[in-house]
Amino acid sequence: MTSQDPQKKLKIAVVGGGLVGSLQACYMAKRGHQVELYELRDDIRTMEHVPGKSINLAMSIRGRSALREVGLEDEIIKNHGLPMEARMIHRLDGSTYQIPYGKKGQCIYSVGRRFVNEVLLNAAEKLPNVSFNFSHKLVNSDLDKGTMTFTNKSGELVEAQADLILGTDGAYSAVRKQFMKRPRFNYQQEYIPCYYLELCIPPTASGNFAMNPKCLHIWPRGSFMMIALPNQDASWTVTLFMPHDKFEALTTPEELLAFFKTHYPDAIPLIGKDRLVKDFFAIKPSGLISVKCYPHHAGKALLLGDAAHAMVPFYGQGMNCGFEDCLVLNEFLNQLGDHNLEKVLPAYTEHRHVDAHAICDLALYNFIEMRDLVNRFSFLARKRFDNTMHWLFPNWWVPLYTSVTFSRMRYHLCIENKKWQDRVRQN
Ligand code: FAD
Repeated sequence: MTSQDPQKKLKIAVVGGGLVGSLQACYMAKRGHQVELYELRDDIRTMEHVPGKSINLAMSIRGRSALREVGLEDEIIKNHGLPMEARMIHRLDGSTYQIPYGKKGQCIYSVGRRFVNEVLLNAAEKLPNVSFNFSHKLVNSDLDKGTMTFTNKSGELVEAQADLILGTDGAYSAVRKQFMKRPRFNYQQEYIPCYYLELCIPPTASGNFAMNPKCLHIWPRGSFMMIALPNQDASWTVTLFMPHDKFEALTTPEELLAFFKTHYPDAIPLIGKDRLVKDFFAIKPSGLISVKCYPHHAGKALLLGDAAHAMVPFYGQGMNCGFEDCLVLNEFLNQLGDHNLEKVLPAYTEHRHVDAHAICDLALYNFIEMRDLVNRFSFLARKRFDNTMHWLFPNWWVPLYTSVTFSRMRYHLCIENKKWQDRVRQN
């Protein structure tokens, strides 16, 4: 599978130039390999509008650690990220209260998806051993031979070959489709009964944020909810999460405004009636998928990011976990050697799949916490208890959210740790 000559540079194909693919291209190029990046879309840096999911994302320590390793943390976090120190919960009567994310000084950052992707593409482009192939859609691949077939903008077939194919082509991965034809590949997908739609709160007339920008705002309403993350231009990306039948029931501006008046009355003046109606009916709600698979490698290919583990967005970990994949793979390459892919790929899979499965589960659990539990006394009491214990014994008692968001504890150990804490509390 690999060259025995340790001097020989590997030919690496990165399929998918989204968040994880563009970061992975930087990692592999910095290791000295020849990287070809293939991306379905045009170069987003030249596009006026980039269609696709969530405009902004919450970045935390795992994503930051992966960026730091390739020298990009400051450009993305320090120069662009907006720190969010707490959840701001909006009650039905319009009153609010805060639940801090962690200890004083701990925060997560709101970052623009397009900005992060562009910084990563620019960084990869600066490296002499990276080539970009935009408007290339993977349509077929032989994972054992490392061959790939793409269609380009003119509809022509383009053939390519690599020593290693990195499948970073997202939740509906075409690389993963090739895995599914092979024996012993386990695959599980679940659409949760919840859709999402993005709205916008514009800046105030004086160009300021209309709400406290140090918080991620949540309107928990039991079986559905709305959240808002701040953007650099003082606007907010608002995401409405709810079952499809609730979306379908809102067919006229009057129904929509009545729904908001009942459930999110304080958000109406922030969004503005006209904008709310225009934006809501301009787009269709999108579904949310959770994907687990095993193994993450086959032949000369490895799946990373959403291609290996798409998760629902409620822990804010999809990108963070995908970025951490790059860091973990880099650690295995350091340990076992770039020319030892026969060992690196299975070792990576064995290590990483348990964590990928764990964070997919945690993300599903956090939906219940965000839309419902944050309203309950028992949840707030537990948070207070956990925070006090963490303050008293910072290394011994690490709350679940802290371990996932502010540490690089392996995701499956975060769950083990929480189970242990539950047992201690019961005794
Ligand atoms: P993608 O970003 O999907 O990129 C895949 C790339 O592959 C795309 O550029 C696509 O064009 C390309 N591609 C697809 N098919 C092909 C093909 N056949 N050939 C070539 N190229 C192809 N994560 C967080 O960490 N924090 C958050 O706050 C957060 N919020 C989210 C909110 C929402 C509403 C959603 C839906 C997700 C959120 N996520 C969040 C998750 C995050 O968006 C994903 O985990 C992340 O985008 C995964 O990156 P990726 O590069 O693996 O996949």
